Amino acid sequence: MVTSPTWAVRPKTRGVVLDLIRAARVISRVELAAATGLTAPTISEVVRELIADGLVLEAGRGASTGGKPPVLVQLNPAARYSVGVQLERNTCVIVVVDLAGQPLARTSFRGAASMPPDQALPLVAAQVNTLLAAAGVDREKVLGVGLVSYGPQARDAGVLLTPQPTEAWLGYPVAQRLAERLGLPVLLDNDATAAAVGEYWLGTVDPRGTYGCIYMATGIGGGVVVAGEVYRGSSSNSVEIGHISIDVNGDECTCGNVGCLENYAGPSAVVRQALATPGLAQQLALDPAAQDFLTEFARIAAAANAGDPDARGLIERSARYLGCAAVTMTSLFDLDMIVLAGPSFAVAGSIYQARIQDEVDRRTFARQAHPVRVVPSVSGSDAAAIGGAVLVFRSELTHASPLLVAPADTPSGAEDQPPVDTT
Ligand SMILES: [Zn+2]
Repeated sequence: MVTSPTWAVRPKTRGVVLDLIRAARVISRVELAAATGLTAPTISEVVRELIADGLVLEAGRGASTGGKPPVLVQLNPAARYSVGVQLERNTCVIVVVDLAGQPLARTSFRGAASMPPDQALPLVAAQVNTLLAAAGVDREKVLGVGLVSYGPQARDAGVLLTPQPTEAWLGYPVAQRLAERLGLPVLLDNDATAAAVGEYWLGTVDPRGTYGCIYMATGIGGGVVVAGEVYRGSSSNSVEIGHISIDVNGDECTCGNVGCLENYAGPSAVVRQALATPGLAQQLALDPAAQDFLTEFARIAAAANAGDPDARGLIERSARYLGCAAVTMTSLFDLDMIVLAGPSFAVAGSIYQARIQDEVDRRTFARQAHPVRVVPSVSGSDAAAIGGAVLVFRSELTHASPLLVAPADTPSGAEDQPPVDTT
């Protein structure tokens, strides 16, 4: 690990300035002083420390405003790296990203979360090690691993609080065990929250804005970011829009609620509806016994794109339900923007985007006060994994959320065997 000497400036102040430099891409010391309210000598000291630490580089001179042209500074993307791991019921996606949040290497493999954690985590660790080697990054510069997954979670403890997909995951210390395997710090967070934060770090949203993210993979989750800060609630199990009731008389959900959105609009629901539509299962060659329903869902989404009326009807129905959730989210948080992220928007994203935008335009409470834009994530299917990596930077460098679990022992990854079925 890269360890910094003891600096004169408080870490939080350094974090604020670093985050401003990241967001601005290039900025002068004068502009930093104006944006933070800090004095010119303090800004000079912070920037000096950030340059000494390698995190920031000088980037030529800006335009003169009368005197000497100001020296500009920018983030050094190669200064640090992090790893994002998205653990889903069907797929595990791993990315290595640079400090600017740009992915340098990516892999995915199937089946990890359907195993007990004692079997799955060695496979994940082996893939992380292989990917770091393939990316050619100096391991000393890797700050840690952001492991993101569904909830509920005891985030501070790095523990999942759900028996999904198997009982063995409930209460298992995933962050600690993965940290021990890799010899790198690991944090656990929610996948939808990670996707939302990733958009912010990549600079695609207004840093002062209030935006939401709807994340759809096998399940449906949500995240809200207010002026760069994640809305966490009491325990970081917030904005769970997949588990708001849309039918008080609906079926019981695995979460304990009834009539949850996910069971009407999520990929498994759409596949179930397709199997019940006469002729559609045969026409699209859907497998009623398929374990990996995301593949079946992608077939339905592709048929909807191609104009099949039955498939289109099912996707439109799912999008309408999501539009209803988007209206609820917007009216609760007064959002400027909603980002659609995750693999289940990959195929029929434009149908979802148009329908959700329409619902928000027509029904959101504050629609006469300001518009709400519905946009696809810049990171697409990998938004949660990239966001997981970004959460590590935020934790370590901007101190927004210091939750990395350090490895207690020496790494024990040497005996790990690479898994099969790598895609
Ligand atoms: Zn539920």
